[in-house]
Amino acid sequence: MYPCYLEGIAPERVETFPASWIVLENLLHVSTWVVAGMLLRPVRWFGWPMATVAWAVLVIAVQVLLKKHNCSGCYYYGKRCHLGWGVLSAHMFRQDSGSPAIGVRLSLFYVVGPPLILVASILIGALQHVWTGHWFLVGAYVVLNAVVLVVRVKGCRLCAMRRTCPGSAVKDR
Ligand code: SF4
Repeated sequence: MYPCYLEGIAPERVETFPASWIVLENLLHVSTWVVAGMLLRPVRWFGWPMATVAWAVLVIAVQVLLKKHNCSGCYYYGKRCHLGWGVLSAHMFRQDSGSPAIGVRLSLFYVVGPPLILVASILIGALQHVWTGHWFLVGAYVVLNAVVLVVRVKGCRLCAMRRTCPGSAVKDR
């Protein structure tokens, strides 16, 4: 378990997030991953969209590993956090079965992923002169990531670990 989670859990918090919030925030995340995969589609190998396939494998692998290394040591393990992943983790892994250090590294997926996908999609569009729809998707990707950020800050404000979580997006630590 994250040592920081054992100390300083915020006294006022949302213990169980509403199902509507969980569904909408998950839909937002899934939408960004799907749009990212679509943006990589023009990169082909023997006619196959291999960059999209690699991206899909990466997303699934990182998400499963995060449930082990982040969520199994989280205060919300077995509970409905703002993403509901505490419940998911409890169905997949034993409590505290992960390594927080690995979890922190895996979380870089959220920090490094979006800018990398954005740069790659702009390069793909410029070099391959792809259809107008590609640029529409680039715009949608930027908007979706901005919305994810806003929702994340809202979730962190109500989260039990906002002052102790290394990935907290709020400043009242
Ligand atoms: S608050 Fe974060 S780390 Fe904790 S269970 Fe939810 S998604 Fe996982």
